[in-house]
This record gives sequence, C-alpha cells and structure tokens, in this order.
Amino acid sequence: MTDPRYDILFTPMQIGPHLAKNRFYQVPHCNGGGYRDPSAAAEMRGIKAEGGWGVIFTEQTEIHQTSEITPFIELRLWEDQDIPAIAKMAEKMKTHGALAGIQLAYSGVNGPNLYTKEVPLAVSPGPIRTFTYDPVQARSLDKTDIRNLRRWFVNAARRSQTAGFDLICLYGAHGFGIFQHFLSRATNQRGDEYGGSLENRSRFAREVMADLRDAVGDRMAFTMRVSLDETIGDLGFSNAELRDFIEMNGDLPDMWDLAQGSWDECSGPSRFKEEAAQEALVKGIKELTSRPVVGVGRFTSPDVMARMIRQGVLDFIGCARPSIADPFIPVKIAENRIEDIRECIGCNMCVTGDMTMSISRCTQNPTFMEEWRKGWHPERMNAKGDSQNVLVIGGGPAGLEAARALSLRGYDVALAEAGDVLGGRVTRERKLPGLSAWGRVADYRTYQLSQRGNVETYLQSRLTAEDVLSFGFQNVCIATGSHWRADGVARWHVVPMPGAGLPVFTPDDLMAGRLPQGRVVVFDDDHYYMGGVLAELCAQAGCEVTLVTPAAFVSDWTRNTLEQGAIHRRLVENGVKIVLNTGVAAVTAAGVETACAYTGTPGRIEADAVVMVASRTSDNTLYRDLMARQADWADAGIRSVKVIGDAEAPGPIAWATYAGHRYARELDMPDRGDALSFRREVTALQG
Ligand code: ADP
Ligand code: SF4
Repeated sequence: MTDPRYDILFTPMQIGPHLAKNRFYQVPHCNGGGYRDPSAAAEMRGIKAEGGWGVIFTEQTEIHQTSEITPFIELRLWEDQDIPAIAKMAEKMKTHGALAGIQLAYSGVNGPNLYTKEVPLAVSPGPIRTFTYDPVQARSLDKTDIRNLRRWFVNAARRSQTAGFDLICLYGAHGFGIFQHFLSRATNQRGDEYGGSLENRSRFAREVMADLRDAVGDRMAFTMRVSLDETIGDLGFSNAELRDFIEMNGDLPDMWDLAQGSWDECSGPSRFKEEAAQEALVKGIKELTSRPVVGVGRFTSPDVMARMIRQGVLDFIGCARPSIADPFIPVKIAENRIEDIRECIGCNMCVTGDMTMSISRCTQNPTFMEEWRKGWHPERMNAKGDSQNVLVIGGGPAGLEAARALSLRGYDVALAEAGDVLGGRVTRERKLPGLSAWGRVADYRTYQLSQRGNVETYLQSRLTAEDVLSFGFQNVCIATGSHWRADGVARWHVVPMPGAGLPVFTPDDLMAGRLPQGRVVVFDDDHYYMGGVLAELCAQAGCEVTLVTPAAFVSDWTRNTLEQGAIHRRLVENGVKIVLNTGVAAVTAAGVETACAYTGTPGRIEADAVVMVASRTSDNTLYRDLMARQADWADAGIRSVKVIGDAEAPGPIAWATYAGHRYARELDMPDRGDALSFRREVTALQG
C-alpha cells in the first residue's frame, strides 16, 4: 500500500544493540509540561508511538541538582524518586514497537540553578547564558568535579535503564549541554588536558561515553547530539571543526544526532527558514563515520524525506515540530495518505509553551498536550451526542476546525462563509512576507472538508440572525472572527487616541492591498508578529518606515517564538528605522507625537501615514443578535448557540483552531458545572 518511492523510509536500521523499525525519528523536544505534567507528557509520546515513529525521545532531562534551568520546565532524573514518572514515558513510547530514548543534559553555563541554589559548574567560569540574563556566574569544574560529573552521567544512565529506555542521547547542541561547552573554544578556555586542542576538548565526551558503555552498554545505545555550527565565527565550534571532531571520533556514539548551533537557528520559523534548511551543513558528514546520522529540517514532505536518505545525506529523518503538528506522519505515509498529513506551518507557537513555562499548544494540532489532560486524540473524535446537525458560521481557522472535527464526530455540518474562499484571516495573512506556509492551516482543513460526505460548504453567504432562525439547525457555532481597530486602543491607549489629518491604516487595510505611501509610522502596540511583518511589507513597497513601539523589543512576544532577533535583523536590512520604548501619543496633520515610555518626554516624527497595529474587535454582531432573540430559538429548532475563536475574544491562530476543536469535542456533552475542564497532576506531599 505504501508508495514504493517511500519504501526507503520504512527500512529498519540498527542503532547499537537495537533495531529501529523505520527511519522516522522524533528528536528530543520540549512541551512546557515536563516534570510538572509527567502524565500529559507521557501520553503525548505514546500518541507518537501509535503514529508510527521508529524512535521517540524525551525532552532534555536534567541529570543532577547542580545543573537545572529553572524557570524552564523539562524533565528531571536527579534521584531514584524521579524514575517512575520517566518510566511511564518510556512505557508509552514502546507501546507500538518504537525505541524509547532519553536525552541526558548537564547544562553547565546554561543552568542558573535558581531552584536548587547550588553554585553552577561550567567548563570555564563566566556568567550564565540563558534567555533570562540571570545575574549568576558559574565556577569552573575542577578535576574532582569532572570525575563527579562522569559519575553523575553513569548514575543517570543506570536510572534511565531502570526506567526502561533503549537509547541515551548526550546533549551538546543548540549552545546547550556540557558536551558542546567542552567542544567549543567559546565556552572552553581551559589550560589543562580538557582544553586547547580539539583532541583535548573531545576528551570529556570520550570519557563519558566509555563510562556509559562500561555501565549500561550491553543493553543501551548512545547518541551524541552535537551542533552543526555554532555560527559565532572562528571562536566557536564551526561546521569544519565538527567534521574534524566526527572524523577523529567516528565510532564514539552509536549514532550522530546533528542539530544547528543555536536553538533559534535550529528551530527557525518558516518565515526565516525553509524545509531542509540544514542540508548543506549536514551533507558529507555521513562519509566521516560508519555510524548512522540523524538530522532535522522541519521535514513535512515525504519526497524530501526520501531524498535525504536516498542521497545519503541522513539515515534517519529527525522531526520535532512536524511530529507535533501531525504525530501520525509515518502511518499516513505508510498508508499512502499523503494528503492527510497535517503539515507544520513553522509558526513556533509550540515553542512558546516552553518559553512561557505554561504548556505547549500547536496551531495545526489542537490536541497536542491535551492527549492526557482532556483525552483528545489527534485522529479520533469522541462519539456523537444526541443532536444531529450544526451550522458553523465563518470559515476561518476556528470555523474550519470546528466543521472538520464535528464532521468526524458524525454530525451533519453546514459551513457558511461570507467571502469567496475559506480560510478567514489565514487567507489574508498567508500573503504577508514570509508567511505563505501559514496557509496550510486553511489548505489542510479545506481539503479534509472536501472529502467528507456530511459537510456542505456555502461561500458568499453572509448570514444574519433572521437567516439563521429560518434554517432550522439544532446547533449554531458562530466563528465570525474579528477586525483590527483603527483608533489605537490596545495597551498604551485604553480609550481612542487623539488623531487628525493623517491617513491611518489598519492591518486589514494593508492585507486588502491598500498600502500607505511615503513616510510611514508603524505603531506597534500588539507586540506579536503583525507590526514587524507590516513594517517589512511597507519597506518592500518603497515606503520610508519608522516602527515605533512602547516595548523594549521589536515584536516583543516573538522572543517566545525564537524569531525576535531575526525580525529585528530583517527590519534593519530593509532600512526600517526602529524606535523602542516609545508610544505614539497622538496622530497630527504632520505626523505623530510620541512619548518616552519611561519619562513621558514628548517627541515628534514627521510622516505621511500611520499604520496602527493595536488590538482587534470581535465581529460578534450576529451572535449578539441571536442572543437577543432567544425567545425565538425553540420555534426555529435551535438547541444551542455558541460563539468561538476571534469572535469570542481575538487571539493567535492557535487559539482559534483550539476553540474550534474544543467546540466540536464538547457539543452535546453534559455540563461539567464547576469542575476543571482538564485533568492535572498535583504534587504528592512528602512524609
Ligand atoms: P477565527 O480566527 O476565529 O477563525 P477569522 O477572522 O479568521 O476568525 O474568520 C472569520 C470568518 O468569518 C471570515 O472568513 C469572515 O468572512 C466570516 N464571517 C464573518 N461574519 C460572517 C457572517 N455573518 N456570515 C458568514 N461568514 C461570516
Ligand atoms: Fe508547527 Fe506551529 Fe505546530 Fe509548532 S505550533 S508544530 S511550528 S504548526
């Protein structure tokens, strides 16, 4: 049944003492749950097993109390009492014949130890390097510490074996992990036998690997996750030096796991990185070692995956985000259901769960991290309730996902959309610079709906309350979206901004093709991607652009999606002038009046137009009209009316797909009263 072109992806391959059943390799990835939500994280990995992955890894697992990365939430294996939670994950991973892998991490110069209050130990002394600029320095490991650290790795490996894992990954990539710190001259300035030459800088990796082979090598396989290029010039661990390292130590691990030098480089969003972006850095490395090689590249296309293996670039297709967006990629390729793959859009919303220490969500897969909390399965819906049909109004991400999931549940669905195409905001936003892959949110769902016999779609159908009351649907789901405000109301202004004279454009204007001209001030009080992307759009259209924001960073919230640096760089390259820590106080006939965010000191920027990226207003008139006519519902046969997505409260696209899915799951379900809407884990009290 599998297309023969993809058979190569299903050939088994040996990794040390273990045979991987296929080439689909879920590389370690965070999920925002970690040690706080072990059952949620375990169930999520179990779903990957069901989806056909040959190898499944944990997120990074801290091996010792002297190195932890609070506030970020990963896994911990500090002592025996951590084993059960991790064992649950290994057990779930192995349910369908996948190999279970654990990534062991000692964070060294990345671990501020805010929780354990231990003095951080690093290869060389220096300030802690993390996202949070903690005012903490590490001291360097002395010889006794190094011996201890080797033992801590052995202890963690033994615990991993007890927990049931087959593979251990030693973490030294993305700038994180002690192995990279030893290898890179940027973090290793030691004068002893662990510093200086590459041979010396490799010593620690060789010692730990030998220790682990002695301790658990008969039953476990070892992978090394190393940076492809630290991208900080000659001082760092370059791609050339990585190749020397692998050539010198080709057989050191049972497998090489290659990942780009910094996390934002490796997990770059689609706005800045194409699929297979690391190919040039990986190519040829396989020839330096007899061991298999895995690499990543936001692979969602089976053709690209098969090519990577056929051309000898990689042995295993490493995926984090694609496996989040669709945990069933391997099964779908095996069953020749390529068009059913829910492709990752590369928005990095999943990463924000880790960065905000909340719990991850995925724009494309609303069930991610809800597999245990809510019992949501990415491919199967709960049984249909006792009503028969639903009218979904609005074909944006919320309405599309509601219609798709409702139809899978067995309801007859009518989807009414005012416009000419389905997709809502995604139809507009996918045309913005770098955001074309976001269109997959609409494309996937539009195709799925086209395959369902119980869904009717009506375009150019702007419905009124009167229409809805005349149709006779039992359930009405209103997903009519939102629009951007022109009056500046957001955070800086809680009432409309004074303004006169100058043309003011909203993001909706620009997305509809109405662009400003001349000198343009983009005022960003939204702080996600829209302000930055519209500044780029205007600059590319020939405007002289100044981006003004009260935040200390351009597109501040995108620090959570690992793209803030790339956005700032792109704007500078496009000639956009950036004014930070500044609000727009008023629009005047000659430009804008500004105010320093700290002191209020006034200023002035001359301009011909203003682009106001403030907040959005829900388009909920239809909902309000229907609520006002509740007395007519019974005669019209209406049992429920609900508003979801941006029409309820505007948010990112991921919020809308989640709202659509949730609506579909909960329709006709008993009211849970005051009970929590999800399961959670509560810490057990000690003694
Ligand atoms: P969300 O992100 O919540 O899905 P969007 O703004 O992307 O919201 O999509 C809302 C969609 O609803 C738009 O495509 C819009 O054309 C459509 N819409 C708005 N009002 C109506 C209406 N009264 N009848 C039918 N469709 C509507
Ligand atoms: Fe991909 Fe976005 Fe989902 Fe992350 S949140 S897996 S980047 S679609």
